[in-house]
Amino acid sequence: MKNSISVIELAKKLISIDSQRPIASESKVMQFIFDYLIDNGLKPEKQIYDKENDRFNILVFGSENATLMINVHMDTVSINDPNNWKHNSFGEIVDGKLYGRGSCDTKGHAACLLQAMIENFNENIVYVFNVEEELSMGGIKKVLELRKTRLKNLKYSISLEPTDGKIMRGNKGQYAFEVTAHGKTAHGSNPELGENAIYKIIGAARKIENYNKTVSKITHPLFGHATANLGVIGGGTASNVIPDYAFMCVDRRVLPNENPKDVEAEFRKLVAPLEVKFINRVEACETPADSKIVTEISKLLGNLGMDSNSYGFTATSELSELRAVGLEGIIFGTGELTQAHKPDEYITIKELEQCTTVLNNLLKRWK
Ligand SMILES: [Zn+2]
Repeated sequence: MKNSISVIELAKKLISIDSQRPIASESKVMQFIFDYLIDNGLKPEKQIYDKENDRFNILVFGSENATLMINVHMDTVSINDPNNWKHNSFGEIVDGKLYGRGSCDTKGHAACLLQAMIENFNENIVYVFNVEEELSMGGIKKVLELRKTRLKNLKYSISLEPTDGKIMRGNKGQYAFEVTAHGKTAHGSNPELGENAIYKIIGAARKIENYNKTVSKITHPLFGHATANLGVIGGGTASNVIPDYAFMCVDRRVLPNENPKDVEAEFRKLVAPLEVKFINRVEACETPADSKIVTEISKLLGNLGMDSNSYGFTATSELSELRAVGLEGIIFGTGELTQAHKPDEYITIKELEQCTTVLNNLLKRWK
C-alpha cells in the first residue's frame, strides 16, 4: 500500500477531476484510477470505449473464473450553473459532508471500492470502473462484450449507486415516447386551407392524464405502481401560420411484471394514427429474492446492523443491461439518490466509511 490515501481524500480527489457528460470526457479521472491501482500493486487493464476521445473502461481481473462483477460508473451529470451551488462543485468537506458533483453518484463509491480492493483483493471478483452511464449505458454494454471471452463464468453483479445502504434488486423501466403529428401549413387567415398539427397533438395529449390513471392500477410489490407523464409538448412557428408539425414526449415507467410488447402496442394504439418513436428505452428488471447475490449481501448487511431487506430502485440503472444478458444483480451503495443530479450533491463521511466497511466485508468472504 505504498501510495494509498484515506477513502475520504480519495473521494475528494476523484470529485476534483472533471468528468461531466457530455461536457468533459472521463479520461482524466480514469487515468488517475489506472495509475492509482498500479501504484498499489494491482493490475488494471484498459478497455477502449471511444478511441478518438480517449475514453476507456478499467477492469481488474482476479482469476478469469470470477463469478461476481462489482462496477461503478465514473461519468457524472453536468454541474450546470455553479452559481446554484453553495458549496464547491469540485469537492469540499463541511460538517461531515463531502460536497461535489459525483460525491454520491458515484465517485464516492469508486473511492470505497478502490480502498477495499487494495486492502482485501478477492480473486473471485472482477472490478470494473466504467465510462458512459448517465447518457446511454454504453460503458457497461462494452464490458459485457467480454462475456464471450474473458467473463464466461460471470453470474452475479453489484452496481454501486446511492441506495441509502439498501439492497435494490431491480429497477423500473423507462419508455420515453416521442409522438409526432403532421398537418398541412397555410396562412393563418385561412385555417380551412390547412390541417392543424397542434390540434391533433392536443387530442392525443388529452388522453395521457387518463392513461396515467389506468396504468397506476398496475402494481408490483417492489415498485408500487406504473406511471405515465406528459412532459413536453410543442409545435408551430407563428400565430399567423397553420402548423404542419407538432409533437409531445411521454414518459412511461414500466414494471417488471408488465409485458414490454404489450406496453408499446397499447401506447401506439392510444395515440393512433399519430407517429410514435422511442427516444429512450430502458427495460424493467428484477433479480429473484433467493439469488445468492441478494441472500449474501442481505446476510452481510444484517451482521453489520444495517437494513437486510431488498427493495426496488425507481430510477433507471445499469442493472437492466446486466439482467438482459442473464446476470443476477443488485444495485447498492450509501448516500441518497435524492442527492444525485442536483446542486450541492453530497455524501456524508459516515456513509463513505460504511460503504467501505460493507465492501471490505464482501471482498473478505465472497467465494
Ligand atoms: Zn449513477
